[in-house]
Amino acid sequence: MDFHLSEEQLELKEMAREFAEKRLYPRAMEFDEEEAIPAELIQECGELGYFGFLTPEEYGGLGLGCSAFMGALEEICAGCAAFGIMLSVHNSLCCEIINVFGSDELKQKYLPAMASGEKIGAYCVTEPDAGTDVASLSTRAEDKGDHYLLNGTKTFVTNAGLAGVLIVFAKTDPEAGRDGISCFVVDSDSEGITLGQQEKKCGIKASDLREISLVDVKVPKENLCGKIGEGFRMALTILSSGRIGVSFQAVGIARAAFEEALKYSQERKQFGQEICNFQAIQFKLADMATQIDAARLLGYRAAQLKDAGEPCHRQASMAKLFASNMAQMVCNEAVQIHGGYGYIKEYAVERYFRDARVTELYEGTSEAQRMVISRDLLKE
Ligand SMILES: Cc1cc2nc3c(=O)[nH]c(=O)nc-3n(C[C@H](O)[C@H](O)[C@H](O)COP(=O)(O)OP(=O)(O)OC[C@H]3O[C@@H](n4cnc5c(N)ncnc54)[C@H](O)[C@@H]3O)c2cc1C
Repeated sequence: MDFHLSEEQLELKEMAREFAEKRLYPRAMEFDEEEAIPAELIQECGELGYFGFLTPEEYGGLGLGCSAFMGALEEICAGCAAFGIMLSVHNSLCCEIINVFGSDELKQKYLPAMASGEKIGAYCVTEPDAGTDVASLSTRAEDKGDHYLLNGTKTFVTNAGLAGVLIVFAKTDPEAGRDGISCFVVDSDSEGITLGQQEKKCGIKASDLREISLVDVKVPKENLCGKIGEGFRMALTILSSGRIGVSFQAVGIARAAFEEALKYSQERKQFGQEICNFQAIQFKLADMATQIDAARLLGYRAAQLKDAGEPCHRQASMAKLFASNMAQMVCNEAVQIHGGYGYIKEYAVERYFRDARVTELYEGTSEAQRMVISRDLLKE
C-alpha cells in the first residue's frame, strides 16, 4: 500500500493544521472550561467547507475521500479533540449514512444544508439499556400510513444541542430482532423532541452530549433512510467510517501530547541538564513516536480500503483499537515527562490525558472492536 498523501490531500491537511494552530489550540482550554464550542468558530468552519468533507460536490460538499478527511481530522483533533469529534460525527456518520443509503430526494433535502454547516448532524443509536448490544434498542417507529410515529429515549448523543438533523435508529418490527431496525432522518425541531441537560464529562468537555427523548414524533415517510429493516446493518457499515475517524482523533491527541512532551524535555533542567539527556526520557519519546506512527499507518490502511470501496470493518476496528490504546499510553507518558506540572491545568498534556480516554469508549468500546476483529478472523 502507498501511504503517501496526494498533493491535494497534503494541501488540505496543511490548511487544517493552520486552522487548528491559529483558531483551536490557543483557546482549547477555554472551550474545555466553558464546556462549549463558540458559534462563530462553527460558522468559520462551515465557510471552510469542513462540514461537507465527504459529501459529493453536487450536494454542496467538498467531495473528498476518507483518507483526505483523516489527514485534516488529525490536525483538527491535535488542536481541539472536542471540535474534532463534532466534525467526525457529522461527516463520517450523519452525512455519510445519507450519502450511502439515502434516496435522491433525501440527499437533496438534507445534504446541502448539512454540508454548509447550517444543519449539524447527530447520530442516535445508544439508549439507556442498549449500548454495545445495539440490536436490543427499544425506540419504536410505527407505520401510521402517511408517516412514522417515533417514541423512545436516546442517550449519549454527541452534537445533540447543536443539531438540526438527527439520524435515529428505531424498531419498525420489534419481533424481528436486528432485522427489525430501521433508520430515520428527523428534523431536530420536530414536535415531541426534548433535549436533556448537557452531560458533565471527564474529557472532550466542549463536545455537546445529551439525552434526547422522542414522544409521538411524526416523521414523513420519505425520511426513511435506506430500506425498512436494514438499519442495523447500515449502522454497522457506517460505524466503520466513524471508527476510522476516532482512530485519527486518537492519533491527533497523542501527537499533540507527544509534541508538548518533546519540547518540555528539551527545556526542563534537572541535575544540571535538560531531562531529554536522560535515557529513561529518550526511550519514552522513542516508544511514543513509534506507537503514533503505527496507529496512523493502520488508520490510513483502513481509510484507503474504504476509498477503494473494499470491505474495511476489520481494519477500521483494528485501527481504532490500536490507536485508542496508544493514545492512553502516549498521553500518560507525556504527563510523566512533565512530572508534577503534567497534572496541572496550565499544561495542555493534562487535557490530552483526559480527552484520550473516551476514544476507547465511543463508536464501540475496545471490547466491541475485539469482537468485530475476532468474528472476522474466525469467519475465514
Ligand atoms: C462522550 C461520549 C459520546 C458518545 N456519543 C454517542 C453518539 O453520538 N451516538 C450514540 O449513539 N452513542 C454515543 N455514545 C455511546 C457509546 O457508543 C456507548 O457508550 C458505547 O457503545 C458503550 O455502550 P455502554 O456505555 O452502554 O456500555 P455497555 O454496553 O453497557 O458496556 C459496559 C462494559 O461491558 C463491556 N461489554 C459489553 N458487552 C460485552 C460483550 N459481549 N463482551 C465483552 N464485553 C462486553 C463493554 O465493552 C464495557 O466495557 C457516546 C458515549 C460517550 C461516552
